[in-house]
Amino acid sequence: MKYGVLGDIHSNLSALESVLERFEAEGVDRILSVGDIVGYGAQPKECIRLVRSIGATVVKGNHDAACVGELELRYFNAHARAAVEWTTAVLDEEELRWLAGLPLTVDLEDCCVGHGTYHRPELFDYIQSTSDADPSLDAMWKPICFVGHTHVPVTLLRLEEDPAHTAYTLDTEIDLSEVRRAVINVGSVGQPRDEDARAAYCIYDPGERRAWIRRVEYDVEREAELIRSAGLPRILADRLYLGI
Ligand code: ZN
Repeated sequence: MKYGVLGDIHSNLSALESVLERFEAEGVDRILSVGDIVGYGAQPKECIRLVRSIGATVVKGNHDAACVGELELRYFNAHARAAVEWTTAVLDEEELRWLAGLPLTVDLEDCCVGHGTYHRPELFDYIQSTSDADPSLDAMWKPICFVGHTHVPVTLLRLEEDPAHTAYTLDTEIDLSEVRRAVINVGSVGQPRDEDARAAYCIYDPGERRAWIRRVEYDVEREAELIRSAGLPRILADRLYLGI
């Protein structure tokens, strides 16, 4: 079984299509999404339709929650808030119902999935340090958990030989054979923030006990132009070129 994991897509259809082409080429059997299908970009309907059509297992992100009124907009900066309001207005009732029905976490045979943290997913906290990761590592039902939310790929892990100590790695090929538990942030498909403008995605092979964070080019110009012509804040287009 080979998994393909989609990080925060954020209504960026070109990036999503490029990643799905890579999944096809890599022989992915099952697709997971760590949430934030919508928000920021100009193609929320198209991204929801495509994610549903491929039968992905999806959890709810904070932007998904905000679009259906489950999260107060005061938690968002002005640009994010404008994008949430724009997105809510363009989605139809059925699409909003689908977003509202997404679970906050999912436990699968080989891993679990959340958006920000696993232990208190409804708070949408960020894991940005080893101590941020500890409550999720303690609470996980499976040894491996995929998350997103920060848009920066990183793995926080405890090794078999030293399970009391939480470490982190920025390795893009992650050897899980000596790992007791790991939270893997897969980065973002549609709005990377690690100064690499390419779409990020993760491949996970539990049989090989390995995961890989990979990148693929997509049509940034097209997505940026769609954002500008939709009247969304211009910064949401500009940042795509820089990966910030
Ligand atoms: Zn996000």
